[in-house]
Amino acid sequence: MRCAPPGVNPAGASQIVVISQLTLRHEHRQAMVDHVRSLWPEEACGLLAGLDGQVQRVYCIENIRHSRYDYFMDPNQQVRAMLDIEAAGWEVCSIFHSHPAGQPLPSATDVDRAYYPDAVYIILAPASGSDWVMRGFAIREGQVREVQLNSVP
Ligand SMILES: [Zn+2]
Repeated sequence: MRCAPPGVNPAGASQIVVISQLTLRHEHRQAMVDHVRSLWPEEACGLLAGLDGQVQRVYCIENIRHSRYDYFMDPNQQVRAMLDIEAAGWEVCSIFHSHPAGQPLPSATDVDRAYYPDAVYIILAPASGSDWVMRGFAIREGQVREVQLNSVP
Protein backbone atom coordinates (compact mmCIF):
# COMPACT_ATOMS: atom_id res chain seq x y z
CA MET A 1 0.00 0.00 0.00
CA ARG A 2 1.44 3.33 -0.93
CA CYS A 3 -1.13 5.81 0.22
CA ALA A 4 -0.59 7.79 3.39
CA PRO A 5 -2.22 6.49 6.52
CA PRO A 6 -5.52 8.21 7.28
CA GLY A 7 -4.76 8.93 10.90
CA VAL A 8 -1.10 9.71 11.07
CA ASN A 9 -0.47 10.85 14.55
CA PRO A 10 -0.22 14.62 14.23
CA ALA A 11 0.39 15.08 17.93
CA GLY A 12 3.74 13.37 18.17
CA ALA A 13 5.19 10.08 19.21
CA SER A 14 3.91 10.27 22.77
CA GLN A 15 0.37 9.81 21.45
CA ILE A 16 1.08 6.47 19.82
CA VAL A 17 -0.78 3.61 21.43
CA VAL A 18 1.57 0.69 21.45
CA ILE A 19 -0.09 -2.46 20.20
CA SER A 20 1.55 -5.36 21.94
CA GLN A 21 -0.78 -8.13 20.90
CA LEU A 22 -3.49 -9.04 18.45
CA THR A 23 -6.15 -11.67 19.02
CA LEU A 24 -7.44 -13.76 16.12
CA ARG A 25 -10.06 -16.45 16.05
CA HIS A 26 -9.29 -19.76 14.42
CA GLU A 27 -11.53 -18.89 11.46
CA HIS A 28 -9.46 -15.73 10.81
CA ARG A 29 -6.19 -17.65 10.72
CA GLN A 30 -7.82 -20.24 8.49
CA ALA A 31 -9.14 -17.60 6.06
CA MET A 32 -5.67 -16.04 5.78
CA VAL A 33 -3.93 -19.38 5.29
CA ASP A 34 -6.50 -20.50 2.70
CA HIS A 35 -6.01 -17.24 0.80
CA VAL A 36 -2.19 -17.26 0.74
CA ARG A 37 -2.06 -20.99 -0.01
CA SER A 38 -4.48 -20.66 -2.93
CA LEU A 39 -2.32 -17.96 -4.53
CA TRP A 40 1.04 -19.61 -3.92
CA PRO A 41 3.63 -19.16 -5.45
CA GLU A 42 2.54 -15.53 -5.79
CA GLU A 43 2.47 -13.19 -2.81
CA ALA A 44 -1.02 -12.72 -1.39
CA CYS A 45 -2.29 -9.86 0.75
CA GLY A 46 -5.22 -8.50 2.70
CA LEU A 47 -6.46 -6.54 5.68
CA LEU A 48 -7.74 -7.49 9.11
CA ALA A 49 -10.41 -5.33 10.68
CA GLY A 50 -11.25 -5.15 14.34
CA LEU A 51 -11.21 -3.12 17.50
CA ASP A 52 -8.93 -2.97 20.51
CA GLY A 53 -6.63 -5.66 19.20
CA GLN A 54 -9.48 -8.11 18.54
CA VAL A 55 -9.80 -9.13 14.92
CA GLN A 56 -13.37 -9.24 13.62
CA ARG A 57 -13.01 -9.81 9.91
CA VAL A 58 -10.51 -10.80 7.23
CA TYR A 59 -10.49 -8.99 3.88
CA CYS A 60 -8.58 -10.83 1.17
CA ILE A 61 -7.38 -8.37 -1.47
CA GLU A 62 -5.93 -9.06 -4.90
CA ASN A 63 -2.21 -8.51 -5.36
CA ILE A 64 -2.26 -6.63 -8.65
CA ARG A 65 1.45 -7.24 -9.16
CA HIS A 66 0.86 -11.00 -9.30
CA SER A 67 4.46 -11.37 -8.26
CA ARG A 68 6.35 -13.92 -6.19
CA TYR A 69 8.43 -11.15 -4.63
CA ASP A 70 6.17 -8.15 -4.25
CA TYR A 71 2.61 -7.12 -3.57
CA PHE A 72 0.41 -4.13 -4.21
CA MET A 73 -3.20 -4.20 -3.10
CA ASP A 74 -5.89 -3.63 -5.70
CA PRO A 75 -6.86 -0.01 -4.90
CA ASN A 76 -10.57 -0.53 -5.60
CA GLN A 77 -10.83 -3.58 -3.40
CA GLN A 78 -8.84 -1.79 -0.74
CA VAL A 79 -11.15 1.24 -0.74
CA ARG A 80 -14.20 -1.01 -0.65
CA ALA A 81 -12.79 -2.87 2.33
CA MET A 82 -11.91 0.39 4.11
CA LEU A 83 -15.46 1.74 3.61
CA ASP A 84 -16.92 -1.49 4.90
CA ILE A 85 -14.61 -1.40 7.92
CA GLU A 86 -15.53 2.19 8.67
CA ALA A 87 -19.25 1.47 8.32
CA ALA A 88 -18.93 -1.39 10.80
CA GLY A 89 -17.21 0.88 13.30
CA TRP A 90 -13.97 -1.08 13.12
CA GLU A 91 -10.49 -0.06 12.16
CA VAL A 92 -7.77 -1.63 10.06
CA CYS A 93 -5.78 -3.41 12.71
CA SER A 94 -3.51 -5.45 10.48
CA ILE A 95 -2.10 -5.65 6.98
CA PHE A 96 -1.05 -9.14 6.00
CA HIS A 97 0.89 -10.64 3.13
CA SER A 98 2.80 -13.78 2.34
CA HIS A 99 6.41 -14.59 1.58
CA PRO A 100 5.82 -17.67 -0.57
CA ALA A 101 9.47 -18.71 -0.61
CA GLY A 102 10.79 -16.82 2.38
CA GLN A 103 10.60 -16.35 6.09
CA PRO A 104 7.78 -14.78 8.11
CA LEU A 105 9.90 -11.68 8.74
CA PRO A 106 9.65 -8.17 7.27
CA SER A 107 11.91 -7.59 4.28
CA ALA A 108 13.78 -4.31 3.80
CA THR A 109 11.01 -3.35 1.34
CA ASP A 110 8.33 -4.16 3.92
CA VAL A 111 10.03 -1.89 6.44
CA ASP A 112 10.38 0.89 3.83
CA ARG A 113 6.71 0.67 2.91
CA ALA A 114 5.29 0.41 6.42
CA TYR A 115 3.13 3.52 6.20
CA TYR A 116 0.68 2.52 8.92
CA PRO A 117 2.43 2.93 12.26
CA ASP A 118 -0.60 1.68 14.20
CA ALA A 119 -1.16 -1.45 12.13
CA VAL A 120 0.27 -4.86 12.84
CA TYR A 121 2.06 -6.25 9.81
CA ILE A 122 1.43 -9.97 9.63
CA ILE A 123 3.65 -12.04 7.38
CA LEU A 124 2.84 -15.63 6.46
CA ALA A 125 5.37 -18.11 5.15
CA PRO A 126 5.23 -21.80 4.31
CA ALA A 127 6.32 -24.16 7.04
CA SER A 128 6.74 -27.91 6.82
CA GLY A 129 4.25 -29.86 4.75
CA SER A 130 1.26 -27.75 3.81
CA ASP A 131 1.42 -25.69 7.00
CA TRP A 132 1.94 -21.95 7.09
CA VAL A 133 3.31 -19.88 9.93
CA MET A 134 2.43 -16.27 10.68
CA ARG A 135 4.13 -13.62 12.74
CA GLY A 136 3.10 -10.05 13.53
CA PHE A 137 5.20 -6.90 13.70
CA ALA A 138 4.83 -3.24 14.52
CA ILE A 139 7.00 -1.21 12.14
CA ARG A 140 7.55 2.42 13.01
CA GLU A 141 10.19 4.69 11.57
CA GLY A 142 12.26 1.75 10.47
CA GLN A 143 12.07 0.01 13.85
CA VAL A 144 10.62 -3.50 13.88
CA ARG A 145 9.10 -4.99 16.99
CA GLU A 146 7.31 -8.33 17.20
CA VAL A 147 3.64 -8.29 18.20
CA GLN A 148 2.19 -11.34 19.87
CA LEU A 149 -0.58 -13.09 17.91
CA ASN A 150 -3.05 -14.75 20.23
CA SER A 151 -5.41 -17.48 19.11
CA VAL A 152 -8.89 -18.02 20.40
CA PRO A 153 -11.41 -20.61 19.18
ZN1 LIG B 1 7.08 -8.83 2.48
